Amino acid sequence: MPPKLTPKQLDELSPLSWALANGLQNETQNPIEFYKHRFLIEPFADLHPDQVVKKSAQVGFSVTAILKAVWLAKYHKLNIIYALPTNDIIKGFVQPKVDSLITSNPAIRKLITTDSMSLKQIGERFIHFKGTGSQREAISTSADLLVVDEYDRSLDMLVVNTFDSRLQASEYAWRWRFSNPSQVGFGVDALYEDSDQMHWIVTCHLCNHQSWMDWEPNQNALLAIDRNHYIDQATRTFRCGGCGAIMSDADRTNGKWVAKYPERKHRRGYWISQMMAPWVSASRIVDQFEESGIEFFYQFVLGKAYTPTDLIVNRETILRACAPSMIPKTNVVMGVDQDASGQYWVAMTGQGIFGYGKTTSWEELEHLKLMYGATIVCDPAPFPTMPKLLAEKYKDFYLCYFKESKHLNIIDWRGSIVYADRTRLLDTVASEITQAKLLFRQRPYELEEYIRDWSNIYRTTVEEADGRTKSSWLKKENKNSDYSFATAYARVALSRQLGAMSSTFIDAETPEPTNTTTAWGDKSGHIKDSLSSIVEDTLQEIDL
Ligand SMILES: [Zn+2]
Repeated sequence: MPPKLTPKQLDELSPLSWALANGLQNETQNPIEFYKHRFLIEPFADLHPDQVVKKSAQVGFSVTAILKAVWLAKYHKLNIIYALPTNDIIKGFVQPKVDSLITSNPAIRKLITTDSMSLKQIGERFIHFKGTGSQREAISTSADLLVVDEYDRSLDMLVVNTFDSRLQASEYAWRWRFSNPSQVGFGVDALYEDSDQMHWIVTCHLCNHQSWMDWEPNQNALLAIDRNHYIDQATRTFRCGGCGAIMSDADRTNGKWVAKYPERKHRRGYWISQMMAPWVSASRIVDQFEESGIEFFYQFVLGKAYTPTDLIVNRETILRACAPSMIPKTNVVMGVDQDASGQYWVAMTGQGIFGYGKTTSWEELEHLKLMYGATIVCDPAPFPTMPKLLAEKYKDFYLCYFKESKHLNIIDWRGSIVYADRTRLLDTVASEITQAKLLFRQRPYELEEYIRDWSNIYRTTVEEADGRTKSSWLKKENKNSDYSFATAYARVALSRQLGAMSSTFIDAETPEPTNTTTAWGDKSGHIKDSLSSIVEDTLQEIDL
């Protein structure tokens, strides 16, 4: 008999051998197994300093990440920040996942020397569990590894950046980010694009064709490997991208990770989907396609980014809505967003947006208001003193607060306060721009800064505490989108200006969305209001 590795050597060798040698269990007290989860073997053992994972729901990745964090704190002596967007980090993550893992595994329990709710001490090292929702969470201790779970749902990227800065003193400065993806080109999708792009390559047992499994076939691919395997919806089967034969569960189970760009050493990227999980049948995936919205299906089942095209506001859509013209400056409304550096305003009438800019004092803004005789809707945060004074001084100066609305109205007027449903308001404005109902009266070159602000904001799906998902607009890391918000406030002001006939954005005939699993149903609430008809009339008048 050749000598065997000792238990101590197995523990120290890698997170994988440690998990196997100690028979670790997952948070539901089932043994962690790598027969069905073969696709997790390589990620489980992977110690690349910069890792990104775009993943579907329910593939067991959080458990993988927690166990790796524990192992690194113990055997590599790393201090770790584990960040999540959950509102209540303890109830939403630490208790159900981390504490359950500790309770069910003596091999982990014996490593924990201090166990407070959000801080686990392992020997002389710590794992801090922190929320990315508020700056208060950003701690002053330095870390060697920052794990950002649900990266695309981190509501406040400034907090993520603050955590990031805690790595600066470390000789490691490792950074692992993973998430269900959101919009194309944002979050983990963008990070994965800039990685070695590991694909789970599956070999057909009949023709030996090798490719990854995807939703639709790609028969026109130039390279053989790009002729991916796919799901045949009619027969509800996985099919070979080479010969069309039905692929077995064993084929999918026995894949291997292959980097599309092995020369990219700076970042390791994994794409994990339910299509590589042998316990998920093709039929189950087709069911989810039929039962859920397309956005949810891509992001949470396929692990792929998705953007509804009618809600992408970019250079192309803004320029398409650009109709330069001098319009009468009557019944002007303005929307105002603010930050520490000043006030960002957008001015419009029913005939479209004619100006935008930044003032560095409230006096200057008040001057603009008087010059145009404008009705103003203003964001009172983060500096409410002057907006409140102006709202007392002028009866047509309103303060806008975001509040989710369960009923049909997107906006709700209460004296000098107006409540608006943030997601539905931005959806409305975005779709009015993409449909060229909301027009820009400036020349294209005058819109550069404005266009840039819209490129910094994207729409995605976020999971709520009760597990349901809803749509939300998030800002890109470190970027501003004040003019996008100022436009939304101006749009609120316009609905006031237009009077009672258009106090709601959505036609009262529109039924309540029935699909509550995604807010995608909101989109079918045909956004039809008097602005579009006014703009259409205007278009005819000025004969474009
Ligand atoms: Zn084949």
